[in-house]
Amino acid sequence: MPLSAASGRSMAEIAAGKGKKRVWHSNRSTAANVTAGATRSKTNVRSKTPTKMAAATARTATKTSSAKPGPRAKEVPAKRRVSSSGGKAKAWKDGDVRFTHPDRVYWVDVGVTKQDLADYYRMAWEWMAPHVVDRPLALVRCPDGTKGQCFFQKHASAGLTEQNLRTLTDSKGRQIIAVEDLDGLLSLVQAGVLEVHVRGSLIDHLDTCDRIVFDIDPGEDVGWADIVAAARDVRERLAAIDLETFVKLTGGKGLHVVLPIDGADWDTTKTFAQAVAFAMTSDEPERYVAKMTKSLRKGRIFIDYLRNSLEQTSVAAYSTRARAGAPVSVPVTWDELGRTRAGNQYTVLNLAKRLGSLKQDPWKDIAKVKQRLPDASALRK
Ligand code: ATP
Ligand code: MN
Repeated sequence: MPLSAASGRSMAEIAAGKGKKRVWHSNRSTAANVTAGATRSKTNVRSKTPTKMAAATARTATKTSSAKPGPRAKEVPAKRRVSSSGGKAKAWKDGDVRFTHPDRVYWVDVGVTKQDLADYYRMAWEWMAPHVVDRPLALVRCPDGTKGQCFFQKHASAGLTEQNLRTLTDSKGRQIIAVEDLDGLLSLVQAGVLEVHVRGSLIDHLDTCDRIVFDIDPGEDVGWADIVAAARDVRERLAAIDLETFVKLTGGKGLHVVLPIDGADWDTTKTFAQAVAFAMTSDEPERYVAKMTKSLRKGRIFIDYLRNSLEQTSVAAYSTRARAGAPVSVPVTWDELGRTRAGNQYTVLNLAKRLGSLKQDPWKDIAKVKQRLPDASALRK
């Protein structure tokens, strides 16, 4: 049973809410902690720690075949931990991130705390990094957990410091934020971010799409088998023109089919994504719709292609969702898709078990695939 990196609790124990009032210490030996802690210093935050190296790998992952994350990925090193007292801790320091109120409950329905969320991301980071690092972010922030008020925000602001984030300004003078390493992600956790959404572009190439997302959005009375069939339909249509796709559970109701491309301008991207959705609705209007209007969706599936423009985002792989049960968005292989049960079947509480038993990363090839986006007319052949 995989253990939570920080608390040493198993995910089952976290699920059962065991060990909540604990003394802050890592499950590692003191020697291991000292060694790991010694690799970081406040003045040298950009040093090549293993975490930083993972991020650097992620940055080059679109160009090389060295897709790093996977079952053999190294565990993120234990970090310096400063307990405020010998008893129940009020705050702790993790690398460069200062955490307050670790026992604050973010998902009341399942008792998942800020600490549990930090533990989850530490566990999932090597898998997540290639899909989130250096992409412009949009965040769902719920400082008081899912039961409180949530905000969708794209900029740093009160309580969300820029300290561990990369920030830049776009051509319209608006701030863009990105994470570069685990510290960046953990500082989002501290700020109450419960969902991390990313653009289909990298911060250094905002005008170029490298990942197209088809959002399979079911109407209320659509069953899971039909949602899976719709994702496969997108896959087959694209495979017919030699484009390889990947799929993930959204952590919500549906699926996202992801098409990695070598780089296309947003007009070309939008036209292509729309053409796919329109081809599906015109071939099978009883199954699919390509308009946002909710009333049209009854019994049908909205093929949402509208994520594919400069400033639109979709939930990042391995991000948690601010929804009941603390679900997460999870990449799966096309083969295993038929064995899935729901878009929200994996959660903060059970994902470690899945990752621990995987033989390889379900998306191991996503950064290796080299494919140019054809003209949309290719779809009509
Ligand atoms: P599901 O499978 O349940 O549909 P999903 O991630 O596809 O999960 P949607 O509700 O279909 O969720 O879409 C929400 C998308 O809209 C997100 O990907 C997000 O990037 C974008 N978005 C834009 N504005 C907002 C907002 N104010 N709040 C939340 N999401 C927003
Ligand atoms: Mn959706």
